[in-house]
Amino acid sequence: MQALVVDDSAVYRKLIGDHLRSWGFGVTLAETGSEAWRILEEPNAPKLVLLDWVLPDLDGIELCQRIRQAGSSSPYVYVILLTSKEGRQNMLQAMQAGADDYLVKPFDELELKARLLVGKRILDLQEELVSARESMRHAATHDSLTGLTNRGEILAMLERELERARRERKPVAVILCDVDHFKNVNDTLGHLFGDDALREIGKRLRAQLRVYDGVGRYGGEEFLMVLPSCDLPNALLRANELREIIANTPVVCSGEERLITMSMGVAVSRCDGKNEVETLLNQADAGLYQAKENGRNRIEHFTSAAKKAAHGRAPKS
Ligand code: GH3
Ligand code: MG
Ligand code: MG
Repeated sequence: MQALVVDDSAVYRKLIGDHLRSWGFGVTLAETGSEAWRILEEPNAPKLVLLDWVLPDLDGIELCQRIRQAGSSSPYVYVILLTSKEGRQNMLQAMQAGADDYLVKPFDELELKARLLVGKRILDLQEELVSARESMRHAATHDSLTGLTNRGEILAMLERELERARRERKPVAVILCDVDHFKNVNDTLGHLFGDDALREIGKRLRAQLRVYDGVGRYGGEEFLMVLPSCDLPNALLRANELREIIANTPVVCSGEERLITMSMGVAVSRCDGKNEVETLLNQADAGLYQAKENGRNRIEHFTSAAKKAAHGRAPKS
């Protein structure tokens, strides 16, 4: 674990630094409060700080306050204030400013070691909590089979992008993709092959993404792509690229091989911002229905004729 030692005294910097190294810590040194703040603002900055109270510019108390003002958006920094200021009042002031611990100089090296162990334990625990929170967040927003964003997350993205597009008066395209005759894939090659095929399709779709695009698993064998600032001609080109990426290479799994195709419905929002998420999805769905009707492994975009046909469709068995 990396520790930052902030002290204007070269003697103390060396003394504390040497102790820390001998106890297995990495050491970064700073002479002033502002130098320490610069270091703490860098990515992957040390999370354990041994801080002198009296410093030439920004003092230890001000630095503590700044660290705490950064809030929960940044990683927790554990601060031990080391100072020659004695007295309970000073200790209280340091703790109120945000210090986690307080040690009076000259300190006993074993006492410093004990305090560091506590700090390290708290930081380790904090890291575990953050990573547990991250994996829960990931599980709540991603599909476990394909690793793509899940339905809720891709719809939230679409909502955000439509909102942005409304302000910027730009279009947003959606491509709703559905694997053709997937039931037959499962029936002939087994459900595990089907799962692998969905994983492989997810991988190929993700590989086609550009920076601002999104793709999610919309349902069983359905995927939704969201393409911000993409007009209809470009959306049709992109959809065709996706269609070919899937259809041109068979899916191979456990010695079995199968050519899989997808049908796609494309819809593009109006730049005047009149489209809502639901309207756009209904339009993409109508296009998809038309693509299935017209023979599969193809792309159709929303037209009012497609909408009419979709309205009259029989429920899928
Ligand atoms: P169409 O071309 O009209 O879309 O035909 P289809 O067979 O793909 O459509 P249908 O809706 O009849 O069947 C979809 C199938 O997808 C049925 C379902 O078991 C399968 N499926 C959905 N989710 C999964 C999954 O996670 N794994 C596997 N292996 N199959 C899945
Ligand atoms: Mg389907
Ligand atoms: Mg299907």
